[in-house]
Amino acid sequence: MGARGQTVRVARTVVVESARIPRKLFKVFVEVEGMYRNMVEQLTIYAVRNTITSFTRLKALKYRELRRLYPKLPSHYAYTACQDSSTRAKSFIRLKKLGQIDSDYPRVEKVSIWLDDHLWRLEGYTSIKIATHKGWIRIEFEPHKQYWKYINGGWKPASEAKIKLDKRNKKIKIYLVLIKDIEPYKPRGYIPVDVNEDNIAILVDDKPVLLETNMKKITLGYYYRRKRVQEKYDKIYGVKSRVKKKILRKLREKKKKHSIRWKTANIIVREAVRRGYGIALEQLGRRSANNMIKKVRDRQLRHRIYQASFKSIQNAIAEKAREYGVPVIYVDPRNTSRQCPIHRAPILYDNGSRIGKCSIGGEFWHRDVVACYNILSRTLGVDGSYAPKPLGITVDGRPVPLASTAAHDPIVLDRGLWERWKSPPKIHKYRMTR
Ligand SMILES: [Zn+2]
Repeated sequence: MGARGQTVRVARTVVVESARIPRKLFKVFVEVEGMYRNMVEQLTIYAVRNTITSFTRLKALKYRELRRLYPKLPSHYAYTACQDSSTRAKSFIRLKKLGQIDSDYPRVEKVSIWLDDHLWRLEGYTSIKIATHKGWIRIEFEPHKQYWKYINGGWKPASEAKIKLDKRNKKIKIYLVLIKDIEPYKPRGYIPVDVNEDNIAILVDDKPVLLETNMKKITLGYYYRRKRVQEKYDKIYGVKSRVKKKILRKLREKKKKHSIRWKTANIIVREAVRRGYGIALEQLGRRSANNMIKKVRDRQLRHRIYQASFKSIQNAIAEKAREYGVPVIYVDPRNTSRQCPIHRAPILYDNGSRIGKCSIGGEFWHRDVVACYNILSRTLGVDGSYAPKPLGITVDGRPVPLASTAAHDPIVLDRGLWERWKSPPKIHKYRMTR
């Protein structure tokens, strides 16, 4: 899975806003939106009714009709309306299958107008031209700091864009897709990352760091709270109640997890960039459930919940890494916390202890850290050109005991601390707690 050697295309959507547009001009866009919305409404219902999810098929069936309907509208709006609608139909059909939608037909509520390369172009860096039934119209927009950061960083606009009308303020929101081709560098080493229930363990040049996430509490806590809300309100108001939906929305689980994910990803990726390292992750999905979750009643369920949140953290790291050209590799996750990376023998843990003892060498290992050493040593199997240095072996060949009193104990950073960071952790400064 190593992406080294080939370029990867990274895309980001950036939203910029036009200045206030004169009434007469704005009216043209309101008309475009009306026609576009009408096309999308008809197409989406047609697509769902006939179970069409392919853009090409929808276009083949409906293009002529759409052109007859709005002959003055530039023809490519019929294309993009088909694209928009097939996407809507696809997601409606999928959600319907999953039982997450009650209505039989999709409602088109919010509309943003999809533009392809025939319908818009960038004019300089601060305005765009949009094709309408009244000809091309030039719109100035107000670039912001983030936009310039991308442009100056070599990002280029993709051929597609979207616009949305802000009718109250007579402004247009422009959704630009910026792309960049990035070539991952050749890593001089790897930072292994082990995602656990409550922390993310990383190993930076032999220094283990645990970023505490409390993901367990957040994931399980929210899961059970959500379930309680569901059961309670289903009983009183029925399964489809609006009250329930409103309360579920308020739980804000998503937002919290999202922020944890991206902050962790940022810290790890920056650390890798600074050192010219790659990132090594466990290939999830094959790890056995009982390996990670103890004392579980509904083991399968918990496993699924955790896996999903572990994977989303990994994905955030991988995505951030792509943006900076940091190579990411995935290694076999089997027994990473139970096997001694030096002797390849089982590590024995006393009940509930974080510290285990190697069954052959007798040296001690910290549970959250040993996985990182194993992941690091397994990078060799994936990236053959890079050899991790022999693990924990001192000059005279003795294994370094990673005892609870040794300097190799992880530095635990609680979330309150690292969440506020913008730059990578200055690891040595933080006092170890356990
Ligand atoms: Zn050992």
